[in-house]
Amino acid sequence: MRAVRVEAHGGPEVLVPSEVPEPDVGAEDVLVDVAAAGVNYIDTYLRSGLYPSTLPTVPGLEGAGTVRAVGSSVSDVAVGDVVAFCDGPGAYAETAAVPAARCVPVPPGVSADVAAAVLLQGLTAHVLVHDTYAVRPGDTVLVHAGAGGMGLLLCQMASSLGATVVATTSTAEKASLARSAGAAHVLGYEGFAEEVRALTSGDGVAAVYDGVGATTFDGSLASLRVRGVLVLYGAASGPVPPVDPQRLNAAGSVYLTRPSLGWHVRTTAELRSRAAEVFAAVADGSLSVRIGARYPLEAAADAHRDLEGRATSGKLLLVPSR
Ligand code: NDP
Repeated sequence: MRAVRVEAHGGPEVLVPSEVPEPDVGAEDVLVDVAAAGVNYIDTYLRSGLYPSTLPTVPGLEGAGTVRAVGSSVSDVAVGDVVAFCDGPGAYAETAAVPAARCVPVPPGVSADVAAAVLLQGLTAHVLVHDTYAVRPGDTVLVHAGAGGMGLLLCQMASSLGATVVATTSTAEKASLARSAGAAHVLGYEGFAEEVRALTSGDGVAAVYDGVGATTFDGSLASLRVRGVLVLYGAASGPVPPVDPQRLNAAGSVYLTRPSLGWHVRTTAELRSRAAEVFAAVADGSLSVRIGARYPLEAAADAHRDLEGRATSGKLLLVPSR
C-alpha cells in the first residue's frame, strides 16, 4: 500500500511517500481503509523530534474510513462500519490498523472526511472549554490563533457557552474567519495583553487558551484576571521555557495548566461519549468544521510546510488516491 514513511527526524522532507506492507490486523484491531487522515500540529513535533517517537514510522494520529477487516476478538466493530480514530501512529496511509477499542463510530450526517477533520481537535476543544476551564456565561476568554484548526473550534464552543471571545490572528483574512466562528474581538499579536486589558476595563480575561506557546506565554499571563486560568495546550511557536511559580502569584494568584487530550479519553467509554457529543454538534449544525485544505497523501510534506509556515486556516487533511 501507499503510505508516508519517516526514517529520521527532521524537516518536512523526511515525510517520504513509499510503498510499504499493509499492517497486520491483531486480534483486538480493525483494519481501516483511510478516507482521510487529519494533519495535526503534534505531527510536526513528532516528525522534528521535539516529541520523542520510535523510527521508522508511518506518522499520523487521526483518520476516518471504512472497516475492511476485524481481529478475532473484536465484537463491537464490524466490517463495513465507518469509524474515526485519533490514536496512532499509522494514519498517513491507505490502510491503518487501529485497536477496536480506540475506534469511534461515525454517525449518519457526518461524512468520513469531516470526522477525520474534527475528531482530535473537536475532542480537545471540548475538554478545554468544559473541563480544563469550564466556560461560563458572562466570561471573557482569549483564544490564540483563532483561525487555526483548534482556534475555530474553541471560538465556536466558548461563544456558544455564553463567553465573549477575544481571538488573536496574524492576518485580516484569518481575523474574519475567527469572527465568523464567534469571536467578538480579534487582535493582532503585537501588544495583545494591553488590548485585552482595555477591552475588559482593566480586569483581564477569565481564561486564555494558548496553543501558540513560546511567543505568547508572557502576554497570556499578563492578560488574565485575578485567579484566571492559563490553559497552555500547545507550542506552535516553540516550547515555553521553565516558569518560576512566583510569577503566578505576582499575576494575581492565577492558575497555569498544561492539558493533553490523551489523559481525558483514556477509556473507550470516555472517548466514545465525548466523541458522540462532538459528532452530534456537527450533525445538527451547531459546530461547523472548516477543512482549510486537502492534500494528496503523497504531498504530506507540503501540508507540514504550510502548517508550520502559518499559511493555513482550519483543518488540513491528507487524502489517499485510491
Ligand atoms: P493551527 O491550525 O492552529 O496552526 C497553528 C497556528 O498557530 C498558525 O496558523 C498561526 O496562526 C499560529 N502561530 C502563531 N505563531 C506561530 C509560529 N511561530 N509558528 C507557527 N504557527 C504560529 O494548528 P492546530 O490547530 O493543529 O494546533 C494548534 C495547537 O494546538 C498546537 O500547538 C497543537 O500542538 C495544539 N494541540 C494540542 C492538543 C492537546 O491535547 N494538548 C491537541 C490538539 C492540538 P496565526 O497565523 O493566526 O498566528
